[in-house]
Amino acid sequence: MTAHPALDKLTAIDSLLSEEERDLATTVRSFADDKLRPYLADWFEAGEIPAREIAQQLGALGVLGMHLDGYECAGASATMYGLACQELEAADSGLRSLMSVQGSLAMTAIHHFGSEEQKQEWLPRMAAGEALGCFGLTEPDFGSDPAGMRTRAKRDGDDWVINGSKMWITNGTVADVAVVWAQTDDKIRGFVVPTDTKGFTATEVKHKLSLRASKTAGLSFEDMRLPGSAVLPEVSGLRGPLTCLSEARFGIIFGAMGAARDCLETALEYAGSRIIYDKPLAGFQLTQAKLADMTLELMKGQLLALHIGRQKDAGTLQPAQVSVGKLNNCREAIKIARECRTILAANGITLDYPVLRHANNLESVMTYEGTSEVHQLIVGQALTGEAAFR
Ligand SMILES: Cc1cc2nc3c(=O)[nH]c(=O)nc-3n(C[C@H](O)[C@H](O)[C@H](O)COP(=O)(O)OP(=O)(O)OC[C@H]3O[C@@H](n4cnc5c(N)ncnc54)[C@H](O)[C@@H]3O)c2cc1C
Repeated sequence: MTAHPALDKLTAIDSLLSEEERDLATTVRSFADDKLRPYLADWFEAGEIPAREIAQQLGALGVLGMHLDGYECAGASATMYGLACQELEAADSGLRSLMSVQGSLAMTAIHHFGSEEQKQEWLPRMAAGEALGCFGLTEPDFGSDPAGMRTRAKRDGDDWVINGSKMWITNGTVADVAVVWAQTDDKIRGFVVPTDTKGFTATEVKHKLSLRASKTAGLSFEDMRLPGSAVLPEVSGLRGPLTCLSEARFGIIFGAMGAARDCLETALEYAGSRIIYDKPLAGFQLTQAKLADMTLELMKGQLLALHIGRQKDAGTLQPAQVSVGKLNNCREAIKIARECRTILAANGITLDYPVLRHANNLESVMTYEGTSEVHQLIVGQALTGEAAFR
């Protein structure tokens, strides 16, 4: 599966995969290498991606909402979904984000908590990449603590009227449908909002230094009127968004290792061909120490991802275990990306190589779907029984 035979031989991760899993990983990797990688530097530099076109290609590949059943979703295993995330993120975390937000957040919310009409209306088109979704939970003043959200949905006869705003919403400016979480007189509820609804505005977040090959938006809702049927009927309270976040976090456990692997492959190749003091950089002990240490962390992270994937498929996975994986794999991936950058030295700071692009992207990946600190607190609570969030 990796492009570096020696790394492949040493980690031997493929030997733990079924033939079907290996085939899927190879397919997604080839797609990413052929259809995305050649354009990534330009997209990152411009801060623009052809999101609709990419979504349609991902839909044709069958990876959008691939872990969901029915409604023209692929019904694949969690591990297969994770492997697809790994291969897409080996190209760029922004493209894996597009897939995660579509499949794990927006589609999962509708699939698990939506009415039959909502599912029929949106899921087949979203699986095909014909309709794009976004997921509005975070607000300008409430990220780690979404319970404090100020966006409010009020009943007006049979309708709902929503006022408020959301921030940092991936796919926000390109979405056809937004899953919006709002406080009601009772509890937090989710709403399925077509983005052409009057009162809905999405404004692009500019000047990002991370995840530039991804669209990020602020959303605002001004007297946004929705029919009673827009609410997700099957969930209330934070369980709704947290269930979806857990799905997206799961994908990141694999995805972050894809970015790390791409950096390590790049550094290995570079070190083999860069001549310093008349011999390849790869022949120096200090370089080998770096490469060896990074390989250990990559391999441990990949094994952890697979362990967590197998548990999810067995139905035994606990949310705190997802936090273990997200915390470790994001933390180690960004360390690997930065260390690889040192091997490429000056060349490493350009978009001619992917290492600093990955490192910058991983800053966001460490932050969204629960920051590292939040995951430390979740793991801490699981270990001690004491909640230390407040
Ligand atoms: C590129 C990008 C895309 C995103 N996409 C989406 C999206 O599609 N939908 C969406 O809803 N959100 C999205 N987010 C938002 C993301 O989930 C939040 O940024 C994240 O939850 C952190 O919230 P915050 O930035 O408000 O940080 P804060 O919550 O303000 O945290 C600030 C600092 O405090 C720390 N902290 C928090 N709680 C504690 C505590 N109890 N003890 C000690 N320290 C603590 C945090 O770890 C952090 O270091 C995205 C973010 C980015 C950067």
